[in-house]
Amino acid sequence: MLIIDGKKVSLDLKNELKASVDNYRAQTGKVPGLTVIIVGQDPASQVYVRSKAKTCKEIGMISSVIEMPADTTEEHLLNTIKDLNNDPAVHGILVQQPLPKQIDEFAVTLAIDPSKDVDGFHPENLGRLVMGHLDKCFVSCTPYGILELLGRYNIETKGKHCVVVGRSNIVGKPMANLMLQKLEATNCTVTICHSATKNIPFYTQQADILIAAIGKAGFITADMVKPGAVVIDVGINRIEDASTKNGYRLVGDVDYDGVSAVASAMTPVPGGVGPMTIAMLLKNTLQSFQRTNGL
Ligand code: NDP
Repeated sequence: MLIIDGKKVSLDLKNELKASVDNYRAQTGKVPGLTVIIVGQDPASQVYVRSKAKTCKEIGMISSVIEMPADTTEEHLLNTIKDLNNDPAVHGILVQQPLPKQIDEFAVTLAIDPSKDVDGFHPENLGRLVMGHLDKCFVSCTPYGILELLGRYNIETKGKHCVVVGRSNIVGKPMANLMLQKLEATNCTVTICHSATKNIPFYTQQADILIAAIGKAGFITADMVKPGAVVIDVGINRIEDASTKNGYRLVGDVDYDGVSAVASAMTPVPGGVGPMTIAMLLKNTLQSFQRTNGL
């Protein structure tokens, strides 16, 4: 079985992005800038934000983090976003989710200028994706990273049956819509399953490409997978493990040991889809810089 190594691909991609950034700096004296806003003290969010800022700096982009207290009002956050929308040095704006209860996440998504929405969550970007204008939108980072993995591993997609389990706005829906597009790296017949789907194995057993974005540890078992299928595991789930330092470890939505005996190719967790997500965020930020500067 082929292990689709997201860690390696993300490193290659980051090196390519760094080379582009160096090039643009030499050419124009300017570099892309990403601003991340974090509201409150959620420990997992803090880890993600630090990691995004660190990777940004590694590849030579300008990164700034705006930390706001948990009791920040929606109005204050929206005004900050407005200022960033008008700041020419900022090419990408990301507001880390989840947000505290007093802030409407959708209002925040709508407030970000679609041309700086490097998360690809704004309805304008999602709408353009659905219509197939991928060169004129930002594709949300996790589905975009999966597309990049499929492409770099030369996974055949045309005419294949892709089954996506999960229909969230940030993973399942954009993923399924991407695989449906008439593009060289997609062009699949697509089925989407969710929590109200009856007899999920009936669908997953037909998948040539199975993408699991559910949030349930080990949900996809070997008996649900067609022999030879390509399996992409988006899930990140903490399970208790007394043998580790933290008392837990991270596993995916796919039962790795069982399914790896059936699948032809598979992403591990960790080291599969996860590392690609940050790399694609930076790729989107670079794309925003290129579009703004006509490069
Ligand atoms: P959400 O919780 O927003 O969505 C989960 C989806 O799975 C929903 O559509 C839900 O259905 C469906 N689902 C839940 N339970 C079942 C079930 N028993 N049977 C069938 N479908 C079910 O999660 P996300 O999409 O944000 O994330 C999914 C997973 O991917 C999580 O583990 C998350 O941590 C991980 N993730 C990983 C990323 C990465 O970079 N690797 C990035 C983003 C997420 P319904 O709509 O009916 O409720």
